[in-house]
Amino acid sequence: MDIHVDVVVVGAGGGGGVLGLALAGKGVRTLVLERSPGPPQGVRGEILQPNGQKILDDLGLLTRLPSEAVCPVRHIHFRQVGGGRLCSIDYDDLPPPYNRALVTLPHAVHREVLDELATRNPDGLWYGASFVDVVKRDGRVVGVVAEADGKPLRIAAKLVVGADGPFSKVRDALGIPTAVHRYADSYLVAVLDCPDQPEAARYFLGTRELFGVFPAGKAQVYLTYMVRADAMDALRAAGVESLRARWAAIDPELAAAFRGFQTWEQSACLPAGRTRAATWVADGAALIGDAAHGMNPHASQGRMQAMADAVALAELAPSCLADDDFSATALRAYETRRRPAVEMLQRLADEEVVFWNTGNPLIAWLRNRVFRTIDRNRRLKYRMVAVKAGLRETAPFDGMMDRLQAAGMLPDSRAEEMPPHVRV
Ligand SMILES: Cc1cc2nc3c(=O)[nH]c(=O)nc-3n(C[C@H](O)[C@H](O)[C@H](O)COP(=O)(O)OP(=O)(O)OC[C@H]3O[C@@H](n4cnc5c(N)ncnc54)[C@H](O)[C@@H]3O)c2cc1C
Repeated sequence: MDIHVDVVVVGAGGGGGVLGLALAGKGVRTLVLERSPGPPQGVRGEILQPNGQKILDDLGLLTRLPSEAVCPVRHIHFRQVGGGRLCSIDYDDLPPPYNRALVTLPHAVHREVLDELATRNPDGLWYGASFVDVVKRDGRVVGVVAEADGKPLRIAAKLVVGADGPFSKVRDALGIPTAVHRYADSYLVAVLDCPDQPEAARYFLGTRELFGVFPAGKAQVYLTYMVRADAMDALRAAGVESLRARWAAIDPELAAAFRGFQTWEQSACLPAGRTRAATWVADGAALIGDAAHGMNPHASQGRMQAMADAVALAELAPSCLADDDFSATALRAYETRRRPAVEMLQRLADEEVVFWNTGNPLIAWLRNRVFRTIDRNRRLKYRMVAVKAGLRETAPFDGMMDRLQAAGMLPDSRAEEMPPHVRV
């Protein structure tokens, strides 16, 4: 082997960067391999939910985010396309200090994580280094083969972590059976200047139409617009002016900002997928983030959950090192701790895909009715915001009773009850 470390992390994305950082903080010798030549570029807005804020705060990074790149948002108004308000989510209901969402400019959080990683572990992040295969001895993983500058490199490690996203090559090399689902709808995202920035976010739901408008940075808006994956070419062919006009028709107040959308280069079209790996651990290896459990962006939790995985695995690593035991059995504690919350979010996001993205007027009617009912039901609304915030690990609706009450089909005598605050 050319290099020996305790942990090699494949991928310096949302989860891998934080894992590298958290392990560096615990004195674990770590190397993070990233196939890209440098930090990510391009259009990418992001909503940092309260659970993610707490993780970054614990790493000493939250207060270091550049203020011009971060916009606190306390209210999200769900509205009907061409109609009125359906429901307003209020982050102020949550316990401080993370009682807001932070909408960030492209890669603001990620750059901060990578900069800090470079400071704390100067030789611990290699760009332009691609994972090729795992190295096994007696059936357990003992390292990886990577390629950097066109040359193969063998790295010995006690633990190999696949943080290489939904199409993880590490997961393939480990032979972990995985269900990968591509959703029919992608999301076009853009960040535009907006001097008259709205204070609250709004999310428009129509029949086969979704449009999210979030205040971002100091004087910008982050837009997310649903596009059928197979309709992107047609959308482009129709031209930016046609899309601008559609946005202005949905949200006329911001027509001036939408006029700033002049070329497709100001946007990115991001496909959405779901991954479900049968197991997240093997002897000498683990998966985190989208490699283990990619989820639909409706959850608004993908990066948060990747970071939470990183923290959970980093907390386990010192005891595995002390015992010299990175077997699947020892690593299972990480998966057991993380899997239930992640699976709940995946299921919730899938339900939202059915109801939010629908082209069926009857399902859209039911969805709107649920939103309107929840708007008047403090108990269910609090649960909803707590789940979005990543502060509640069980589903917002406990069972059939809650569902019928949410749909306004049964009265809820506890509708005014404010549940006890979730733990931050
Ligand atoms: C439209 C859209 C909007 C989203 N919005 C949000 C949001 O607002 N909030 C949120 O929390 N999440 C959001 N997400 C989800 C979020 O981006 C992901 O869940 C998160 O980035 C997952 O982190 P990860 O580390 O698992 O994977 P990634 O961030 O994808 O990182 C994987 C890394 O591995 C590297 N890599 C891949 N293969 C190799 C290899 N062979 N060798 C070396 N390196 C490799 C890649 O270059 C990449 O850097 C959104 C997703 C979409 C599609």
